[in-house]
Amino acid sequence: MISKIFQMQYCLIGNSFRKDQFIEVDERGKIISISNSRKDEDAEVIKLNGIVLPGLVNSHSHAFQVLLRGSIDKPMNFSDWVDSALYPLVEQLSDHSLEIATTVAYCQMIQNGITTVGEFHYIHNQLDGSYEGDELTQVVIEAAKSVGIRQRLLYCGYDKGSKLGQKRFKREVNEVLNSVNNLRSRYHNDELIHIGVAPHSLHGASEEMIDALMKWSIENNEPIHIHIAEQQSDLDLAKKLYNRSPLEFLNSKKLFNSNLSLVHGIWVKEDELQYMKDGRSHHVYNPLTNMALGDGIAPMDLYLSNEIPSAIGTDANNDLNILQELRTVEWLQRVSKLEMGILKPPQGSFGDISQLLFDMVTRNGGKSLMLPIGELKEGNYADFIVITTDTFSIRKKGNILDQIINSLNIVEVLDAVYIGGELIYTSSNGFTRINVDDLLDKFNNI
Ligand SMILES: [Zn+2]
Repeated sequence: MISKIFQMQYCLIGNSFRKDQFIEVDERGKIISISNSRKDEDAEVIKLNGIVLPGLVNSHSHAFQVLLRGSIDKPMNFSDWVDSALYPLVEQLSDHSLEIATTVAYCQMIQNGITTVGEFHYIHNQLDGSYEGDELTQVVIEAAKSVGIRQRLLYCGYDKGSKLGQKRFKREVNEVLNSVNNLRSRYHNDELIHIGVAPHSLHGASEEMIDALMKWSIENNEPIHIHIAEQQSDLDLAKKLYNRSPLEFLNSKKLFNSNLSLVHGIWVKEDELQYMKDGRSHHVYNPLTNMALGDGIAPMDLYLSNEIPSAIGTDANNDLNILQELRTVEWLQRVSKLEMGILKPPQGSFGDISQLLFDMVTRNGGKSLMLPIGELKEGNYADFIVITTDTFSIRKKGNILDQIINSLNIVEVLDAVYIGGELIYTSSNGFTRINVDDLLDKFNNI
């Protein structure tokens, strides 16, 4: 049944901009039809001026890390950052701080045009390391619901490590399976919250954990994400543990399939990408985090030429500006190869590069998170953002997608955010579900 009709002045449908479109949305927040004429006379009609784009998808987040603001200037390398910034935060993070930090992060994601977040959540235990139900996961889920952002909660399996901070992550394989089964049943009919799994990495998850979560992912047809090949040292670790490279290890266990997303995937060889291609697996790239932590540059030319869909995440970059991440994808290639125009559509494909890059923060995020999002089309959630053209930030006669990727200041032009057809944010009146003054007060008191 139609619950709302949106009359859009100018919107991106498929790969082309169209004028004067009517989008009908049902009570579940999904698009029923898109056409240039209005059918149902009784439903509420909402007129949207400016440009309507599909909501942006942040495929890899650790939202609580907004609390690292102000403490990431000193670390000398990745492991120093983990020991001197990340773990000290984790060791003292209360339920309340987790709730406020996550809510703040999600509000800022909305202000950056992000309508769905893939939340890779690994803080499961209390401050003393004891497990008291999935209260902390619940806090992160409720934060998403309080803001109104769509969430794929990727419940992390972490059963290795003996550092103090790691006591907050560690749970046994069977415990993790119990939790994800319970959470999945609880949110099975929830349109906003979706559950998936995430063996943390080869250093955080045992072989048994990876196997068990992959089995769960296949049986339940839900996504599975894993941090892999982020640092050069990850190659040494995989060699030591399994006498193989990280991707060779996954391939030896036949783990490549279309539910799998490899997060980072920086230190990979071209012949290893064939495993991902054959398995129709996904890649999630976090370029600004990888720059900030000195991880390296993913071979995005090879991902594109092998037609492996890459999505984008903000990861530990708590700026949360995903378009900034996106423009860095091509620019990093330029600065490392001293050329321009390095990323090209795969041979024989019809796509143009602006569209292929924009897909990374829209459609490919939907594929990686296994959700019907990232494109305005029938059957997808009505998640979209409205941007104004009455601004210095957009030149109306220029190529719009090129500007979105290379120059748009999203915070300056964002007019409104709709998720599941519901208004969540407007630049003039702020959030519809959140009292920002109250939230800011709590954030400043952490
Ligand atoms: Zn991460």
